[in-house]
Amino acid sequence: MTSDPVVQWQPPLLAVADSGVFPLRQVWCVGRNYAEHAREMGVDPERSEPVFFAKPAACMHQQRSVTYPADTTELHHEVELVVFLSGGGRNLAADDWEQHIFGYAVGVDLTRRDLQARFKQSGQPWELSKGFDQAAPIGRIVPASDWKPEPSAAIELQVNGAVRQQATLAAMLWSVPVLLEQLSRSVTLGAGDALMTGTPAGVGPLQVDDRVTARIHGLPVLEFSVREQ
Ligand code: MN
Repeated sequence: MTSDPVVQWQPPLLAVADSGVFPLRQVWCVGRNYAEHAREMGVDPERSEPVFFAKPAACMHQQRSVTYPADTTELHHEVELVVFLSGGGRNLAADDWEQHIFGYAVGVDLTRRDLQARFKQSGQPWELSKGFDQAAPIGRIVPASDWKPEPSAAIELQVNGAVRQQATLAAMLWSVPVLLEQLSRSVTLGAGDALMTGTPAGVGPLQVDDRVTARIHGLPVLEFSVREQ
């Protein structure tokens, strides 16, 4: 008689500001949540609905450098507010969302844009343009008791000190509660889930040796560099 193989694994553990960790279960993302970004991607924001997609949880990390990925010559930055859940369920009501929020962080939804364009053109799913090693760097998570997403909060991304993306959270087409309400009509949300809430205009390519600084007012700054393979 042979014994069952033992699988050693634990979920990604993300650092929380001051102390503690957040065990990550799954990462949802939304596309086209800022009108100017929808336009720069060739989509009419008046006619668009939130587009939900996922990244593998293993993509999310807090390392200080990202290795330039394979299969692209066009690695794009997308600065985003990231929401972390302590609970959830199906069909969440937009007026009862706050009890499910664990906290918030600033993150970057790294995208292999050339690959995404090819997948879109051929009508194929574009997971691999969004899901690859280190594709979701985030800053430290701040508990919801210490920070709320005020519409006036500035969201910004700099590359080597030059501003590339700049907006306020007021420019989000769908607020955090509306996104949670809509996504939970389709999937069960739960403790350990993250939602990347979309990016403002100004997305663009990163090069090896670039230094990226991503900020949302009041949250710990996210800084990382891009390293050669
Ligand atoms: Mn994005």
